[in-house]
Amino acid sequence: MFHDKTNFEEARHRMVERQLVQRGITDERVLQAMREVPRHRFVPEDLWDMAYRDTPLPIGHGQTISQPYIVAYMTQMLHLKPEDRVLEVGTGSGYQAAILSRLAKQVYTIERVEELARRAKRILQELGYDNVLIRVGDGSHGWPEAAPFDAIIVTAAAPEVPPPLIAQLADGAPLIAPIGPAGYQDLVRLYKRGDRTETEYLTPVAFVPLVGEHGWRERGSEEEET
Ligand code: SAM
Repeated sequence: MFHDKTNFEEARHRMVERQLVQRGITDERVLQAMREVPRHRFVPEDLWDMAYRDTPLPIGHGQTISQPYIVAYMTQMLHLKPEDRVLEVGTGSGYQAAILSRLAKQVYTIERVEELARRAKRILQELGYDNVLIRVGDGSHGWPEAAPFDAIIVTAAAPEVPPPLIAQLADGAPLIAPIGPAGYQDLVRLYKRGDRTETEYLTPVAFVPLVGEHGWRERGSEEEET
């Protein structure tokens, strides 16, 4: 069996070499965070042995923890600085928030499923990652009292970038989000430049839907009700 600290550490280092470095992740701070954060702690215990595989995993409530490469890629694309304040929408397991917490000064993260938020909060506390604030609610509204943010990362798929999130970006700051219907989206990076935005399409991805006022409706459907 594999439930031993050294083995997890070895699996993590292997994950970083084979899944991240070999696929072109070059930001040493991101690689170091991915070597350091114990990903297995963020998945259900019966899946600990699979935590370092090249795949997303279920975390309950029909939700997932993203594939390690996607976490690293999205993080790298934000170019975080140690003094940054970052907003994440879609806490899920808390793993992405943990990675962000190693790279930025303060992380704000919002999750709509209360039990997931509670679990993420407990694990982050146990690991001593004390620069993460978690809120339960519809993250498509952002976290206006804490704005402006130096970066925003959305880890659930929306039909378009929620306008409140653009409003809560600092001037010159990036936002990264999967945009499109359930099952298939484009990963988009947008920079706020004064009252304009600059948008680039990065790569195709598949995220669970952002469910909320500026996201999809409850069932994750793209159909309009008439
Ligand atoms: N970043 C997460 C991690 O590291 O485990 C993975 C996020 S998972 C792919 C997407 C999450 O977004 C789910 O936990 C889901 O409940 C949450 N979500 C969906 N719509 C939301 C909304 N409007 N506000 C906040 N969270 C939302």
